[in-house]
Amino acid sequence: MSGRPESAPVASGAAGGKRFAYAPAPESRAVVRLRPTYGLFVDGEFVEPSSGVHFPTVNPATEETLAHVAEAGAADVERAVAAAARAQRDVWGPMPGSERAKYLFRVARIVQERSRELAVLETLDNGKPIRESRDVDVPLAAAHFFYYAGWADKLEYAGLGPAPRPLGVAGQVVPWNFPLLMAAWKLAPALAAGNTCVLKPAETTPLSALLLAEILQQAELPPGVVNVLTGAGATGAALVAHPGVAKVAFTGSTGVGKSIQSALAGTGKRLTLELGGKAANVVFEDAPLSQAVEGIVNGIFFNQGHVCCAGSRLLVQESVAGPVVEALQRRVETLRLGDPLDKNTDLGAINSPQQLERIRELADSGERDGATRWSPACAIPERGYWFPPTVFTGVSPAQRIAREEIFGPVLSVLTFRTPEEAVAKANNTTYGLSAGVWTEKGSRILWMAKHLRAGVVWANTFNRFDPTSPFGGYRESGFGREGGRHGLEAYLDA
Ligand code: NAP
Ligand code: MG
Repeated sequence: MSGRPESAPVASGAAGGKRFAYAPAPESRAVVRLRPTYGLFVDGEFVEPSSGVHFPTVNPATEETLAHVAEAGAADVERAVAAAARAQRDVWGPMPGSERAKYLFRVARIVQERSRELAVLETLDNGKPIRESRDVDVPLAAAHFFYYAGWADKLEYAGLGPAPRPLGVAGQVVPWNFPLLMAAWKLAPALAAGNTCVLKPAETTPLSALLLAEILQQAELPPGVVNVLTGAGATGAALVAHPGVAKVAFTGSTGVGKSIQSALAGTGKRLTLELGGKAANVVFEDAPLSQAVEGIVNGIFFNQGHVCCAGSRLLVQESVAGPVVEALQRRVETLRLGDPLDKNTDLGAINSPQQLERIRELADSGERDGATRWSPACAIPERGYWFPPTVFTGVSPAQRIAREEIFGPVLSVLTFRTPEEAVAKANNTTYGLSAGVWTEKGSRILWMAKHLRAGVVWANTFNRFDPTSPFGGYRESGFGREGGRHGLEAYLDA
């Protein structure tokens, strides 16, 4: 990788070759109206935190402070859980499912109407490319509300018994990599099933959840049905520990997931955990190789690799390893890193300096452990947090970069000779969230899917999400399923 260029152009591009330069194509940020400070969303209103404390949230691409956000403490958790419990008992629980559905359909439609605003805000606060927030995060968030709206009046047909009942108040904690989408994954099934919610967004990406709260007001959702408490880890810990919470849904790191599981032991609270991953993306010699290269790129560089199900371990059959890695490098050279608001950007900013440090540390360990590190010539912007797309070859299964979740744009390439070896290597991980298989043989896809220990197995594609399809892990990737009919199970007592 080259060093910082003198002129610091924002976009990267391939070195050499005749390629047209891209003109800047920035999405306007005028559609977003940021307030200097935000309160907590409790009982249908934005209120000041009892502590009076606010903290900044920054744009990781520029290091600019976007706004100050309220830090919720124990008293605020108390208020929010009480409001949610009241709303569940008096309004939302007794409401016929067909009426709840109308609210959810309305929320879905307003999310669509305000999709550009949501996409720009998400990109500002998170650093992800506008192409992704616009084409993936926001449409999928709307799709989750649409999908679960359809279930709200059909719960007795969900296969969970003739008269399933809501659990009560759900305490929901989400991470920073897909802030709005994870909020939708949590809220939509909980609400469809008649529960009320207290949602804790991540400290570094609270703004889209607060805009969603405005959308809920606009949809005239009854007060208290959804509450949003911003804050850091302590706020999340107070929320999940509150005795008024009947069900905890957590997406985040395996470490925090474990601490929540032990905090909840013996309380009788229901728990689902969506944690980390170290997915294998397995490419056989008979695969359509150019298509596989696109899938490898999408698998690890989508959302800067901040994806729990990212295909961070490429397992490629030895006979085609050379050509696949060559084609991959050629393709990665064309990726454009830079201004996330530019519609031509492929790789945006790393969400926080802490995450950047973690990625650097793990990538450096790969080099120290003897793997070969490669990045394309890539101009890194002067300000903000950035990491170039990186491919490690010559990786052995014992190295940290083959075992630990890097959660960044770093791919580890390993090889295999036989399908049995591919399975053994793919399953040689403490995680079990997702996997990919690339082959032209249907029988091999089925055999692999049967033997891979992963909650989701994609065949000849990767990182495909659909609200109708269950998603979740095994082992240290957590338990419980989100999405589909299965996603209702976590929110209903049969
Ligand atoms: P994290 O530190 O575990 O944070 C996740 C959320 O939990 C944040 O809202 C965080 O607040 C909060 N939190 C922190 N400590 C807590 C505690 N003791 N009790 C309750 N809540 C607490 O994870 P992250 O670094 O933000 O996210 C990256 C990780 O999430 C990766 O490992 C990734 O694989 C995983 N992930 C998994 C999925 C999935 O579906 N399986 C999806 C996305 C991400 P603060 O942000 O304020 O610290
Ligand atoms: Mg931010």
